[in-house]
Amino acid sequence: MKRQTSCADPFEADAISVDEAQKIITKKITPITESEKLDLRSCLNRYLAEDIYSPIDVPSHTNSAMDGYAIAGDDLPKKSAQSYPIIGTSYAGRPSSNTHKAGHVTRIMTGAVMPTGTDTVIMQEQVKVVDTLVVDTPSVLIKPEHKKGQNVRQAGEDIAKGCLVLSKGRQITPADLGILASLGIGELDVYRRPRVAFFSTGDELRSVGEILKEGEIYDSNRYTLFGMLKQQDVEITDMGVVRDTQESIHNAFVKASEFADIVITSGGVSVGDADYIKPTLKALGDTHFWKIAMKPGRPLTFGTLKTSSNEAKFFGLPGNPVAVMVTFLQFLKPAIHYLASGKIKLPLTFQANSSDNIRKRAGRTEFQRGIFKQNTDGTLTVKRTGKQGSGILTSMSIANCFIVLPEESTGVGKGDSVAIQPFHGIN
Ligand code: AMP
Ligand code: MG
Repeated sequence: MKRQTSCADPFEADAISVDEAQKIITKKITPITESEKLDLRSCLNRYLAEDIYSPIDVPSHTNSAMDGYAIAGDDLPKKSAQSYPIIGTSYAGRPSSNTHKAGHVTRIMTGAVMPTGTDTVIMQEQVKVVDTLVVDTPSVLIKPEHKKGQNVRQAGEDIAKGCLVLSKGRQITPADLGILASLGIGELDVYRRPRVAFFSTGDELRSVGEILKEGEIYDSNRYTLFGMLKQQDVEITDMGVVRDTQESIHNAFVKASEFADIVITSGGVSVGDADYIKPTLKALGDTHFWKIAMKPGRPLTFGTLKTSSNEAKFFGLPGNPVAVMVTFLQFLKPAIHYLASGKIKLPLTFQANSSDNIRKRAGRTEFQRGIFKQNTDGTLTVKRTGKQGSGILTSMSIANCFIVLPEESTGVGKGDSVAIQPFHGIN
């Protein structure tokens, strides 16, 4: 989607849209192909490097879904209740040794194999047992209210032998672990984890534990980045704070690009005198874009760093703490997912009614911080967190979603529908 350049907005003329940036990132990234074999439990959250076909039927045998009595559907009473002698018992893992006979039933437990000749189970709560005090052979009285085939789980009804169960690129979930175990699969081929290196730039930055001098601040971006990367199942290399000199930034770039798939920096991508990120990227690789029509996060630089043995994608995030989180969630999270799996996954968007009047300039996508809640009638309402400055990191901590205002929007009124992207639970 090409942006319309606004006359009132001459400085944004070379900025690309959020959509366009996401597309360019996907186009430039080559998904990982190297894989490793791991035992089943270690594969949780990892990405499958093979298609998994089922070696067996699940369930492996036709079995009862209830505790009750197995019967041939054709023997069911037609008009009035009928008595059936019990000729044996089938337990889960211990089938009945008696052969089924027409006009009889077999006592059966949940998960037990259906005796040959039976295809229907009557729940024990729905029969009357007539015991040996009354008749020679124990029997059950069954009413004419049942359907042939009921309460039976067919062999292969969950997974049929030979069918594709999980495909390449799939991120393994707890349910998948259970499915794979039910197929007897103990190890899997998964792609290796992406290697991500990151560092902060800025002469004003001090690490936690150091004493702040006048004008200095603690480096918080490395911590939010660490936290967001930790949730992505990647190999993390924290390279610390790098001073704002051409030489130290150059050296850090060279070091990171030797081993990482993705290199992330924060700060130093504006047009200030000490912003060496863009020229360094230019000297060591290619720049794919450096400005996005969004707020916060406009000066995001994306490029490729090449060494003789490696190629790393470079993301130069802005320095402002909220901009770091917004750009990470919009671009880096999908980029890491694509690198790891070859599949595109963008943030999920829902609609909610705005509790606030929100004003905005046309020409850029805005990611405001919001708190959404579900009303008793099931609809969603969202309100802003308050001050929306890109340095106000508490807005991200208080918020549970982004309010996404598209480029063309000039704001929304109270009660209008807006797009939200929840942070947790569903992505
Ligand atoms: P810059 O992009 O380097 O001009 O930085 C923009 C703003 O973000 C400045 O106020 C910086 O002090 C601040 N900033 C940059 N890096 C960090 C960081 N790692 N942690 C906290 N604030 C930062
Ligand atoms: Mg700086």
